[in-house]
Amino acid sequence: MKKYDYVLVGAGLFSGVFAYQAVQKGRTCLVVEKRDHLGGNIYCENIEGINVHKYGAHIFHTSDQRVWDFVNSLAPCNRYTNSPIANYKGEIYNMPFNMNTFNKLWGVRTPAEAEEMLTQQRKDAPETPSNLEEQAIRLVGRDIYEKLIKGYTEKQWGRDCRDLPSFIIKRLPVRFTYDNNYFNDRYQGIPEGGYNVLIDKLFAGCDVELGVDYLKNRSYYDSLGDTVIYTGMIDAFYEYCFGRLEYRSLRFETEVLEEKNYQGVAVVNYTDRETPYTRIIEHKHFEYGTQEKTVITKEYPADWTYGMEPYYPVNDEKNQALYRQYAEKAGQEDRVIFGGRLGEYKYYDMDKVIASALALSDRVLS
Ligand SMILES: Cc1cc2nc3c(=O)[nH]c(=O)nc-3n(C[C@H](O)[C@H](O)[C@H](O)COP(=O)(O)OP(=O)(O)OC[C@H]3O[C@@H](n4cnc5c(N)ncnc54)[C@H](O)[C@@H]3O)c2cc1C
Repeated sequence: MKKYDYVLVGAGLFSGVFAYQAVQKGRTCLVVEKRDHLGGNIYCENIEGINVHKYGAHIFHTSDQRVWDFVNSLAPCNRYTNSPIANYKGEIYNMPFNMNTFNKLWGVRTPAEAEEMLTQQRKDAPETPSNLEEQAIRLVGRDIYEKLIKGYTEKQWGRDCRDLPSFIIKRLPVRFTYDNNYFNDRYQGIPEGGYNVLIDKLFAGCDVELGVDYLKNRSYYDSLGDTVIYTGMIDAFYEYCFGRLEYRSLRFETEVLEEKNYQGVAVVNYTDRETPYTRIIEHKHFEYGTQEKTVITKEYPADWTYGMEPYYPVNDEKNQALYRQYAEKAGQEDRVIFGGRLGEYKYYDMDKVIASALALSDRVLS
């Protein structure tokens, strides 16, 4: 006799949304998570009364009404609006590239003046770009490329922009309005009290085992439930039988500072090549914190090797082809459903993960 309807492997957002829906429908769930906490990559650690985004800054944004209503019904969001700035050798520019950026760069005041300047600047690149540098200059001109793209991109990829292929940058949005709001989505915000408020509500009513690697004892956990929802790495599930999928990673350095307000904004991108990190996050600004101290995190790009935290899938042809082999095998399972960013080897924003888990719930729980 199985004890649970569902055994959920991993306690990230995908599992959480599915578990919540399942419990609402009277199903029983066991959650096994190898970390020592729930929430996957949206988990926050409380330091000095500040919710620190332990696995990188997470800003919830969506245009999906159902997803927005779902999250807000459990954890109402504040009015945080992401307006990051760029620091290039001490010069400060607004992002995304908009009239404020153009005004600071060139002194232009009207959209027509800015468009004319950009047209001039774009002429510096050949019509058919042969590398990322030429592509970026074709899209936004030399000044923006030199000050706001070049160093940042080179740090991210660990290579010179002239040695990177042009297809990496397909589009670089420019806005001819004085609008520093980074996202175009209809809604954005941070759950009041932090993401852990949402996480705790999502997993309420489930049995949870933390610090457990499902793959080390899978026949036991399989025997406990009718269906397994697996949100770990898909290649690990199949013991890397076709080879290992690749990821990009990040390294975080977090410090507590004896001051109230370090940088005046949550996100600052460092766009020169010399500064070794790409961003500094000051976490209290996500929730308008008034604490006496502040906590900042420096983000360093890192090559991924086996055993490191797999943050971003590398969606190039080689890895996609490998993933398709695993996905085909996964499609033949009748008791295991794969979901989430590792289970589907896909970069998913939070709203897309939530939508995908809601769609699965609609399909299998009705
Ligand atoms: C650096 C970074 C910044 C991001 N910023 C944003 C943002 O600003 N806005 C946004 O919308 N999205 C952002 N995202 C995306 C967001 O993190 C994801 O959409 C979301 O966390 C995915 O949830 P998930 O459940 O699929 O995966 P995860 O959160 O990774 O959860 C999977 C869980 O499974 C566990 N697990 C894996 N294998 C096993 C095993 N064998 N046994 C037991 N447990 C296992 C893992 O430990 C993990 O806890 C960001 C992602 C990253 C990497």
